[in-house]
Amino acid sequence: MRAKNFKEVALGYTPAMAAEEAGRCIQCPKRPCVAGCPVNIDIPEFIKAVREGKMAEAVTVLKSKNALPGICGRVCPQETQCEEQCTLLKQKAPVAIGRLERYVADWERENKAAMPPGAPLPPPTGKKVAVIGSGPSGLTAAAELAKKGHAVSIFEALHVGGGVLMYGIPEFRLPKEIVQNEINFVKSLGVELVLDAVIGKCDTIDEILGEGYDAVFLGTGAGLPMFLNIPGENANGIYSANEWLTRTNLMKAYLFPNYDTPLKVGKKVAVIGGGNVAMDAARCALRLGAAEVYIVYRRSETELPARREEVENAMEEGIVFKFLTNPTKFMDDGKGWLTGMECIQMELGEPDASGRRRPIAKAGSEFVMNIDTAVVALGTTPNPLIAATTIGLKTTGHGTVVADETTGKTVKDKVWAGGDIVTGAATVISAMGAGKRAAADIDKYLMGKQ
Ligand SMILES: Cc1cc2nc3c(=O)[nH]c(=O)nc-3n(C[C@H](O)[C@H](O)[C@H](O)COP(=O)(O)OP(=O)(O)OC[C@H]3O[C@@H](n4cnc5c(N)ncnc54)[C@H](O)[C@@H]3O)c2cc1C
Repeated sequence: MRAKNFKEVALGYTPAMAAEEAGRCIQCPKRPCVAGCPVNIDIPEFIKAVREGKMAEAVTVLKSKNALPGICGRVCPQETQCEEQCTLLKQKAPVAIGRLERYVADWERENKAAMPPGAPLPPPTGKKVAVIGSGPSGLTAAAELAKKGHAVSIFEALHVGGGVLMYGIPEFRLPKEIVQNEINFVKSLGVELVLDAVIGKCDTIDEILGEGYDAVFLGTGAGLPMFLNIPGENANGIYSANEWLTRTNLMKAYLFPNYDTPLKVGKKVAVIGGGNVAMDAARCALRLGAAEVYIVYRRSETELPARREEVENAMEEGIVFKFLTNPTKFMDDGKGWLTGMECIQMELGEPDASGRRRPIAKAGSEFVMNIDTAVVALGTTPNPLIAATTIGLKTTGHGTVVADETTGKTVKDKVWAGGDIVTGAATVISAMGAGKRAAADIDKYLMGKQ
């Protein structure tokens, strides 16, 4: 039943469950979990506060390092970060840090009146920073800079703030109310959010700098989809995952006709790819009414890059995984509408540069999948607009912006960058970590400490 609606799938802890889980933390002196968190949340401290029932204190500790805890508690891959470092993991399950983080963030949302007033902001420094893009990197950089007393404006191309958190990750994994609530917190620090502002079209970075901004942070993500580049890929019924998810989530196609954007969903949908984006696209297809939904992935289950939890959820919901399968061409009905996808079977050879075993096509093993919709979820690269319109910015062959790993400084004067625009498609928390490091460096620069 859950696969037929967009309600949140993972349920949060009850107070008793949270207290029990918080009680499992042994408060070890080495605190390896903190080092495992890209934004260095004082994890033992907030868990201790939960255990002692001091929820307002838990919120304060958490939010002193992370402006977006309700988001991170839901989508961060904790199993490869803080929880992977948990001392308990040597013998048993690690403390469920992500679930506790979500519990604290949800408690705050439901108990706003019980929160003491936040620490006062420092007096204005008179410095102005422009943040381009309102995804997790931009929001984090903006919040950190505002906390230092700088005047911050975020310029966002879309009509809603949040980046992938709003247009990519579906409602059933990350309710949009949670995202907007956390954006409102960032705004409450004095950050201005300017929507419908496509930088590079309406204003360039150099024009922004000429308008009196002292520094710019680029957090425009990696929103340009990659394609298979095989015959027939322009048929009607083939979407990029970006378009599919944006129509579904941001434009609320699942609520058509109450919202204006329709999405043509066929009976048999194949999603090509094996990451979180592919899982989200496939699970959306089910909820939009498809009868059969396939994940088509050229390696085996072991190499799937998606979070284990997402793969398990997709399997539970009835999505069929076709491993070691690679599309070779699309077929249409003669009028341009997709009717099928020819695939070839693969086997795994030696590991390639990514460390994963290289998929090799098995000659003569072609077969046809009868499908009427395909969603291509093969990854993304940064949109070239910013690089093309900014004089003196250096980019790599993949279109990512070159920036110092520890400070986010680009080779261009007064310009920093972080998140997916620098790393290519990665994670929410790594984008937030980059935003935080860049904000610290921008602050140093603005205050003349460099
Ligand atoms: C479907 C999907 C599911 C995912 N699931 C997870 C998950 O479960 N866990 C996880 O950790 N990560 C997940 N990720 C990855 C994660 O969301 C990204 O790594 C993260 O959002 C990157 O943050 P960012 O701030 O760099 O960019 P983004 O979130 O992409 O935000 C960039 C913002 O900049 C704006 N922008 C772009 N160009 C311009 C311009 N020229 N002018 C003004 N604004 C501009 C965009 O509109 C956007 O709002 C997922 C990604 C996708 C697509």
